[in-house]
Amino acid sequence: MLSYLFRFAANRLSPAEASAHLTIFIYHRILSVPDSLQPEILDAEAFDKQLKLVKSLFQVLPLPQAVAALKAGRLPARSACLTFDDGYADNLLYALPILQQNAVSATFFIATDYLDGGRMFNDTVIEAVRRAPVGHYDLRELGLESLTLTTAQDRQSAIANLLFQIKYLPQSERSARVLALVERLTKQPLPNDLMLTTAQLLDLHRAGMTIGAHTASHPILATLTETEALADIARGKQQLEAILADEIQLFAYPNGKPQVDYTRRDVELVQSLGFLGAVSTAWGAAQAHDDPYQLPRFSPWSSQPLRMKAQMLRNLRHSVMNC
Ligand SMILES: [Zn+2]
Repeated sequence: MLSYLFRFAANRLSPAEASAHLTIFIYHRILSVPDSLQPEILDAEAFDKQLKLVKSLFQVLPLPQAVAALKAGRLPARSACLTFDDGYADNLLYALPILQQNAVSATFFIATDYLDGGRMFNDTVIEAVRRAPVGHYDLRELGLESLTLTTAQDRQSAIANLLFQIKYLPQSERSARVLALVERLTKQPLPNDLMLTTAQLLDLHRAGMTIGAHTASHPILATLTETEALADIARGKQQLEAILADEIQLFAYPNGKPQVDYTRRDVELVQSLGFLGAVSTAWGAAQAHDDPYQLPRFSPWSSQPLRMKAQMLRNLRHSVMNC
């Protein structure tokens, strides 16, 4: 009954064709079991439930098809797409089987520098904090707030605070700071199998999933010079095309907030490289008149079905913010 009401409301908010709205869901990791340090990340069981709910409410399309239909004003009512950012190995291991069981296609945006054993700075911080012995850590010398790590809650807040302090530093300074932080926190080795290998990426592609570009090094584009930004975006695209022997048509801005993480300049660079469309992390649902190079995306933050439906309806009514 509630699903019927949702579809009724969503049909009013997102009818077919010219007035259609495209809801694009954004995911990063899907875990095998829940992680107390990252409670916001779905495990396989929760993802399966969420996917079944999304399928019952929306018409899920592959993103390339949806972008073409959106531009042509021929999108079905209540259209949605699924996307995964960064290129985590768990996308192949846990998300793909569930997508296949539910007969749903998704797009995976891959940052190519991390293939084959790489680790993104945020995961280095998370994994170092996870392994740090209970204790107090004076990090003032590193220009970071000191930490006391006792409970899982302490570790969760430490991760959020550290990422907030480090995220927007220039890339080389960020890497140096993260390296020094790891040395202070743990002597244990950190995992090197978080991201896809080239062979796993090929498996994902062979399974019929869409692969999109997400730069090579996952920089905050807005902090780079034009030459640096162009080179990083182009290198990611070319590397994927060489590995997959296929054209890469779609792009996702790292971090993805308009004005903060990328600017109008980067939108033009993406367009100049021959992409057909790009996605941001501004929330909202795209309409035919929106910029196809800044399609908004959405991530329901409640796993409770009724709240999720309310959030999805609110997202359909949210007007899109662009550069
Ligand atoms: Zn990313």
